[in-house]
Amino acid sequence: MAERLTEIFGIDVFNEATMIERLPKKTYAALKKTIQSGEDLEPAVADVVANAMKDWAIERGATHFTHWFQPMTGITAEKHDSFISPTSDGKIIMEFSGKELIKGEPDASSFPSGGLRATFEARGYTAWDCTSPAFLREDAAGVTLCIPTAFCSYTGEALDKKTPLLRSMEALSDQTVRILKLFGHKDVKAVSCSVGPEQEYFIVDKSKYLKREDLIFSGRTLFGAMPPKGQEMEDHYFGCLKERISAFMKEVNEECWKLGILAKTQHNEVAPAQHELAPIYATANIATDHNQLVMETMKKVANRHGLACLLHEKPFAGVNGSGKHNNWSLVTDTGKNLLDPGKTPHENVQFLLFLAVILKAVDDHADILRLSASNPGNDHRLGANEAPPAIISVFLGEQLADVLTQLIETGEATSSKQGGKLNIGVHTIPGFRKDATDRNRTSPFAFTGNKFEFRMLGSSMSIAGPNTTLNTIVADVLSDFADELEKADNFDLAVHDLIKKTVTEHQKIVFNGNGYSDEWVAEAEKRGLPNIKSMVEAIPSMVSEKAVRLFGKHNVYSETELRSRAEIEYETYSKTINIEARTMIEMAGKLFVPAVIKYASGLADSINSIKTAVPDADVSVQEELLKETSSLLASAQAALGALRSYVAEAAEKEGAEQAKYFRNVVFPAMESLRAPIDGLELIVDKNLWPVPTYGDLLFEV
Ligand code: ADP
Ligand code: MG
Repeated sequence: MAERLTEIFGIDVFNEATMIERLPKKTYAALKKTIQSGEDLEPAVADVVANAMKDWAIERGATHFTHWFQPMTGITAEKHDSFISPTSDGKIIMEFSGKELIKGEPDASSFPSGGLRATFEARGYTAWDCTSPAFLREDAAGVTLCIPTAFCSYTGEALDKKTPLLRSMEALSDQTVRILKLFGHKDVKAVSCSVGPEQEYFIVDKSKYLKREDLIFSGRTLFGAMPPKGQEMEDHYFGCLKERISAFMKEVNEECWKLGILAKTQHNEVAPAQHELAPIYATANIATDHNQLVMETMKKVANRHGLACLLHEKPFAGVNGSGKHNNWSLVTDTGKNLLDPGKTPHENVQFLLFLAVILKAVDDHADILRLSASNPGNDHRLGANEAPPAIISVFLGEQLADVLTQLIETGEATSSKQGGKLNIGVHTIPGFRKDATDRNRTSPFAFTGNKFEFRMLGSSMSIAGPNTTLNTIVADVLSDFADELEKADNFDLAVHDLIKKTVTEHQKIVFNGNGYSDEWVAEAEKRGLPNIKSMVEAIPSMVSEKAVRLFGKHNVYSETELRSRAEIEYETYSKTINIEARTMIEMAGKLFVPAVIKYASGLADSINSIKTAVPDADVSVQEELLKETSSLLASAQAALGALRSYVAEAAEKEGAEQAKYFRNVVFPAMESLRAPIDGLELIVDKNLWPVPTYGDLLFEV
């Protein structure tokens, strides 16, 4: 297998090695230049590249190509074209031109545009993103050559998640290079952000999944009582993998490796039926494409194994939901990780400056960072009773926190705490040095050795948005600092003062304690940190004056683009809750209420027949159950009626007002319907209950 692994890795990717092998030297050099410095690609060069790509793809069995893009639905889209082209003798040849490689023209009218495009103004373009390699995908449709592209409207506005990400990467690179120049690193021409997303997910049995409309339509269970066992034994976390799961993981890994995705770690997560996959980090853009492919691959492979992969943030109430930790750092084109503090961070002025920049960026823009991690599913996690809190703070760990304290208190940091040797009291176990800092699991934004881990992301999201925001806020502070430092007479002194001033002003964002505690909520409020409770409340930050200036200055989003995106966020929220509510209405009305009536009739029949047979028999148990059932049923029916009318009412509204109505009125009404039905599930005969239970779904894979 090991040998096979090195053979299959990247086999489906038109990668560096394949390009060198298949492209004329001059073409390769021209393409490389475009990739590295964004220079225009000559049409003739594009033709040669397209032809080489086509030959490679056809040799591997491809019949079609597609421009693969990431519209604002958060998932990917594609339209397939075959390579065929007719000849005069009634036959065909296989063709693929540079023009077809560079530009596609899908109808843009049915993708979310937030009012940017009216349905009659349909034209949109996909443009080849040569910084992310083309790849082959094999499925029932055969083999398809997939070309990663950006998607924009006829008027040039971005209609996708990738374009702003690429823009933010450029901004970040430019501003970081300015700062590095001041530190004397004149050799650095570009800086990229490295991203490693840890993907959490649930796996359930497909046949059980198919019996639950809530999972099918909304991706999460909308009803379900807790089984006798949840996650309290902590026996699933890092537990031994079940055979069906390991077979699934093996195939996911193989598919990922073929696509050049560095799938690295896999394990069982905290909740039963929950798992995680983490790849080795890559440049943000490629990491984003890869994460989409990982999610798609998981769904596809699960299906082949009679399983269903749930990527929703909260598929089950009462056990942990799923997130996506976004590990993020800055790497120069000379290979240096700018967030590596070295052994003695107090002496590493350049590192301390980047640290100060990030603290300021996160503190100043906590609102849009929080929004970037919001979606309807994540509302069940952020700020609910689960990781991480909705309040943004930064964990630095003991070593860095101590360096900052020295800086703030004395103006000078003179030492760095060291990890020391770990002794576990067994002589036969070799000793090792421990890290200078412990881990913190509760922080939404944690420094973890040589990178920051943004932990608020939801499991189903595209990582493009959060990284776009992160890159832009950091670029913005770097830009202000570069303005200031470039003017300084004495650079060393100016940097020192700037670091001290910044960490003093922004120390309020640093929190090294337990982020889940109520004390922290109170303390954060005292510090003036925002605690934005839901997605709907977070959306306005996107179009604040501050955000418009920030994204405009760095050419990441125009004001029009921001406004349309805010519109889409409201729409997405409303549509999601609408689907959930309507699914609940359907399930309650057609499945649960009839099942409960059947059960109640059975009880009534039993009471009657026993009383007829033995008039003075004790039927108090049946009577008690019947009363309890009837009372819960009445509550359910009342809640169902209310939910129906609220959903009808919501349909009359639009935009922000509609989203708020869904959040404040419809959502609580859904909870009111769920409660009595979950209560009934605990009473009604198991064989009468119309859907698989939490116990069936979580423990019987
Ligand atoms: P943990 O669960 O302990 O946080 P994992 O190994 O599951 O650790 O995930 C850590 C992730 O961080 C991996 O995707 C890894 O590649 C990524 N990572 C490591 N170094 C960097 C870096 N310099 N920049 C970005 N991501 C990084
Ligand atoms: Mg992690």
